[in-house]
Amino acid sequence: VQRTFSILKPDVTRRNLTGAVNARIEAAGLRIIAQKRVHMTRAQAETFYGVHRERPFFGELVEMMTAAPVVVQVLEGEDAILAYRAVMGATNPEKADAGTIRKDFAISMGENSVHGSDAPETAAQEIAQWFAGNEIV
Ligand code: ATP
Ligand code: MG
Repeated sequence: VQRTFSILKPDVTRRNLTGAVNARIEAAGLRIIAQKRVHMTRAQAETFYGVHRERPFFGELVEMMTAAPVVVQVLEGEDAILAYRAVMGATNPEKADAGTIRKDFAISMGENSVHGSDAPETAAQEIAQWFAGNEIV
């Protein structure tokens, strides 16, 4: 069993799609073992996306992630990292497979509805940024 870190991005909370996206997560066999709604500060978003600091879209990304509340989550399941990325779909929603969250809900490459960790090391780091151990049950 593995854990991954997930964010339901501002385009999801703004359109009241939190439950709809969570239904997709649960249907994929992933269990939501921690969850809270937070309004990210600029500093928190810059830390979270630090790996993209030099990319041309970084400013836009930080603006977007701080524009409205998000839902941060820890998901648990068999091969959770890959399983979640499969149900998320491609970063660019136009390229996402049918039935994926991004295909069905995302607005654009930036407002692409969800984040999921890309490896065990980043999952552990991201979970530690947002949750205390006793919040994960
Ligand atoms: P995430 O890390 O959010 O799960 P990802 O791993 O599919 O998504 P990354 O390449 O890590 O994609 O990019 C992180 C996020 O930055 C994307 O999810 C998207 O919101 C934003 N992003 C990436 N590329 C672009 C772009 N070309 N223009 C605007 N925003 C972008
Ligand atoms: Mg990524």
